[in-house]
Amino acid sequence: MRNGLVIIGYGGMGEWHGYHLTHSVPEVNLKGAYDIREERMEVARKNGIHTYSSYEEVLSDPEVSIVIIATPNNFHKPLAEEAMLRGKDVILEKPATMNAEEFAQLMELSKVTGRLLTTHQNRRWDADYNIVKKIYKERLLGDVYMLENRVQGSRQVLNGWRGVKENGGGMVYDWGVHLIDQYMDMIDSPVTEVYANLFSLYTDEVDDNFKAILRFENKVSALVEVAMNCFILHPRWHVSAENGTAIINDWDLNGKMVALSDDKELIWEEKIVYTSAGPTRSMAPRPPETTIEKPLPSVQVDSADFYRNVLKASNGEEELVVKPEQTLRVLKVMDAVFQSDQLGQSIKCRI
Ligand code: NAD
Repeated sequence: MRNGLVIIGYGGMGEWHGYHLTHSVPEVNLKGAYDIREERMEVARKNGIHTYSSYEEVLSDPEVSIVIIATPNNFHKPLAEEAMLRGKDVILEKPATMNAEEFAQLMELSKVTGRLLTTHQNRRWDADYNIVKKIYKERLLGDVYMLENRVQGSRQVLNGWRGVKENGGGMVYDWGVHLIDQYMDMIDSPVTEVYANLFSLYTDEVDDNFKAILRFENKVSALVEVAMNCFILHPRWHVSAENGTAIINDWDLNGKMVALSDDKELIWEEKIVYTSAGPTRSMAPRPPETTIEKPLPSVQVDSADFYRNVLKASNGEEELVVKPEQTLRVLKVMDAVFQSDQLGQSIKCRI
């Protein structure tokens, strides 16, 4: 049977792929899983998934045409190379590779071998992101000029390989890659400047908290923040546009838009206004009738569409949604994030 798919690395994410594929995408022919740890293979079998005894056995199986590589990040590239050389299409977990140069080499191999190469940037299908994308693209509040995109926790622990530099640990690789990918997918303009500040509070090896600002050629600025030490949360998203503001507070999509009212203009006071901030007209509260509160737009998304697209693209029926050129751009921005932090200055670029 065609389109046999095997999960390589049956850890947390590998198990999630197995569950999601089995329950939401029955059209995918999940052939099995392989992990270097026997205890994880046992879990796979308990979950009703066939296991392979080696990577070689996976690559030798003529019924396997796609592998999903869900190992720690530093193993992605060698496993992907082997797979493409053996005629398999490759889905890489994010971050696809440790840097842009490594990924450029995989792209070259993908061209030479004619194998498909994509990255599991599943957060392009998140509802919160798609709400913001709609506000941005459809100019629901006019032109957007500043976006803030945050993921914040307070568990303070980088578990297992996520705390190890050699494995590609740290929050830029873990969550930063998703948030940067969302911006690059939404904003159709080159990145011209990157400024980043990384913190290592719990280990010297990797970053556990960071902030980065990307400036795009179209003048939009985009903040990315990932925190593991945040006990009072900012909103998940904050969007500043010429005619209003939007926030999404949390993963449950609580939030709102506040837009300028069409018919009630603000009338500038002749005299100084006394506020709790002292005498100021600039920062005095707006009369409430000059704005209008609106619910966030609704969106319909299904993260299983990622797999459906890869399946169709693998059969030549559709274009890939997550294209290698896009992953390359994201990794170039991530390289600039690390470079900016090391040099303590912003990086001018055109990515
Ligand atoms: P994990 O440690 O839970 O699982 C990794 C598994 O890979 C382990 O079971 C390990 O034994 C296995 N492994 C290591 N080397 C291997 C090899 N050479 N061949 C076969 N198996 C091997 O880690 P995780 O949280 O599942 O993360 C795995 C990957 O998935 C990472 O790249 C991570 O960034 C990504 N991830 C993506 C998302 C997402 O939302 N897209 C979420 C979590 C993790």
